[in-house]
Amino acid sequence: MIENVVEFFKNLPPKMCTSCGEQIEEQHECYSNKCDKCNCE
Ligand SMILES: [Zn+2]
Repeated sequence: MIENVVEFFKNLPPKMCTSCGEQIEEQHECYSNKCDKCNCE
């Protein structure tokens, strides 16, 4: 349903680390697609 567009965006899946597949918490200072652990490597 078109009226559910807002709900759709609210329910977007979280970012996943492209390296290990771990869920990434929102990090506004971080533009990469990797989690903290993989960013440090
Ligand atoms: Zn990772």
